Amino acid sequence: MTPGAAVSYSHRFSQWLSPFLLLAVQAVAWATCNAAAQAEQCPNRPAGRLEADDSPYCPVPGRIGIVPEEQDAISWSYPPKCMSQTPRSQDGPRLDCLFTSTTFRNGHGTSIVTSSTTASHLAGLEAFEDAPTPVIRDALGPAYEVVPFPGKRTGVVAKRRIRRGEIFMVDLPALFISVSFLADAKPHHRRRMLKQAINQLPEVTRSRVYGLPRGSAEYEVDAILGPNAHTVMVGDGEVHVGLFTEVARINHSCRPNAYFRFSERRLTVEVVAYHAIEPGDEITLSYVPLETPSSTRRQYLKSHWGFDCTCTLCTGPATDLEESESWRRKIKSLRETIANARSEGFYHDAIVMTEEWLMFAEWDMQPPLMAEYHDTLANLYFLKGDMVNATRHARMAVDEWVRLGSVDDEPLEKARLLLRRLEAMDGRRRGG
Ligand SMILES: [Zn+2]
Repeated sequence: MTPGAAVSYSHRFSQWLSPFLLLAVQAVAWATCNAAAQAEQCPNRPAGRLEADDSPYCPVPGRIGIVPEEQDAISWSYPPKCMSQTPRSQDGPRLDCLFTSTTFRNGHGTSIVTSSTTASHLAGLEAFEDAPTPVIRDALGPAYEVVPFPGKRTGVVAKRRIRRGEIFMVDLPALFISVSFLADAKPHHRRRMLKQAINQLPEVTRSRVYGLPRGSAEYEVDAILGPNAHTVMVGDGEVHVGLFTEVARINHSCRPNAYFRFSERRLTVEVVAYHAIEPGDEITLSYVPLETPSSTRRQYLKSHWGFDCTCTLCTGPATDLEESESWRRKIKSLRETIANARSEGFYHDAIVMTEEWLMFAEWDMQPPLMAEYHDTLANLYFLKGDMVNATRHARMAVDEWVRLGSVDDEPLEKARLLLRRLEAMDGRRRGG
């Protein structure tokens, strides 16, 4: 990511905020806030269940929150360290804890600072389960390399041809931090907790974190997180900041050739190509939602990330930019109209507009994941009662999910379930 940058935007989840903007607001608000932040080093005790614990501040090692009985306990590498916060937005205090696993995904390791509620939620999804590291099928050789750029410190360049819709980068969070914690913790508590979060990581991952380009913030942890972190959402829209050290190297473009998908179930990010990327081409992501009008976008990049965008769209012919703006406006309004049509039961209209939406998205060089596109159409045809087309799209959705090879197999399982259901209905219809 470009130096001076703030926190980035996650493609799938159109949340757009900078925790460091929140921090600035917080610094002012803090003086009038009576919240008592309490830092406490929890004792290292044998595993048991949280609800049976006598201290409201210290979850028992090996357990975070309410973990289903049948699930194995999670072994944290250090005693969790917790802080009680009284958020300005809620009534009761919230408990934020630092959990570190140095063995997470074959020793990549991760440090998580979040509420015990969110940690329980992630544990319930088995996000911390130490399944094998996802492997990218690199028979063709490594897809990309990080290279020094004039004017920018580094960038990511394709080493070989990358296919449209190919997952070419899979990354894990070195740090995963709740934005509520960043906003509510006292600055010195926040910095101390984050410093400890980094220092508890395994050597290899820790040196990758310290090796990232830094922003201009006064304190080291803020300077590291500022230009390198991405925001993602977990659970019911709890915004978190993830520091993915490989993804952090990808620079911004207003016409990006890639986007990232975050899976909370696997606590993993996958970077997908919008279209074919040729060897030597720079790989880019958009740090702001694509439908943001160009003037707002450039202002935002300047004020929050600290750079003037010099991407091909911003420096190219004005007609190109206008055309792209117009497609993006249409794409945005079409998406809203489709949602309305669907909720009001106008499935035929929703289908026609979904097909139109794909065309506009292709013209603006930001096609959706075809697996998701076919999933959407399969469901719309199903709702409309057109089982032939529903089955056709469900089959294509399954094929596309298989081809994608995501580390998160839940969408594939859902698509398979729909296809099986449709085929069973067809069997009954023919049989009866
Ligand atoms: Zn630009």
